[in-house]
Amino acid sequence: MLTINNLHKQFDDLVVLDGIDLDVEKGNVIVVVGPSGSGKTTLLRCLNILETPNQGVMQINDQTLDFSNKVTKKQVQAFRKQTGMVFQTYNLFPHKTAIENVMEGPVIVKKMNKKQAYEQAKRLLEKVGLADKIDYYPFQLSGGQQQRVGIARALAMDPEVMLFDEPTSALDPELIGEVLNAMKELADEGMTMVVVTHEMGFAREVADEVLFMEGGHIVERGHPEEIFSNPKHERTAQFLNLIK
Ligand code: ADP
Repeated sequence: MLTINNLHKQFDDLVVLDGIDLDVEKGNVIVVVGPSGSGKTTLLRCLNILETPNQGVMQINDQTLDFSNKVTKKQVQAFRKQTGMVFQTYNLFPHKTAIENVMEGPVIVKKMNKKQAYEQAKRLLEKVGLADKIDYYPFQLSGGQQQRVGIARALAMDPEVMLFDEPTSALDPELIGEVLNAMKELADEGMTMVVVTHEMGFAREVADEVLFMEGGHIVERGHPEEIFSNPKHERTAQFLNLIK
């Protein structure tokens, strides 16, 4: 349901994505690993069109963006609606409560009526285990709770694919599990997910496929068991040894 062909992105002379091909089946969870600077974040940002690729084709369901042609604003908006992004830092509106943060997108972007947006946001906050925190402001929530609001906020836009960019790397160790659990539940419900993370336990348990990226390339991809116990490329083995 998600396909990427020959995706290229460079910043000035720096080639960051050097011909990425990827296909993700509906309901699958893809974990992307690789050294810092290998292009993982840029790949997710391209999928959410926070960055504009220089070349390549991205497709989600019947929405296609071909960057060798002119891409219109309308096409970008339609494509972006298909993906929900969860960031390393939560970027919640500090002066809005948890439920207001989750309602914001549907009300402002989708013009959903407030009552409906409220009911949906309440349901989503319950789903990520925050039923008793809906009226709290971000400063009253732990990092793990704020990140779960971030997940609910992305879900509120009803995306086809959820993108997670190191969602637990800013968290204290004891708060990581609650966020990974919320993600795991989402995966169990059949959400299609692309996750950049160093949490190898999550990758082993939840991923259908692990991609190892380096230098803007996908060096190796496979089932987590295969990649972790029997990596084909020396670089994958070296990297996995380092983060074990
Ligand atoms: P990763 O997520 O694997 O650490 P990134 O996608 O964040 O890698 O970055 C890949 C490379 O692109 C890095 O060298 C980074 O400095 C560079 N880069 C990322 N974003 C920008 C930008 N907006 N402008 C210039 N260089 C960037």
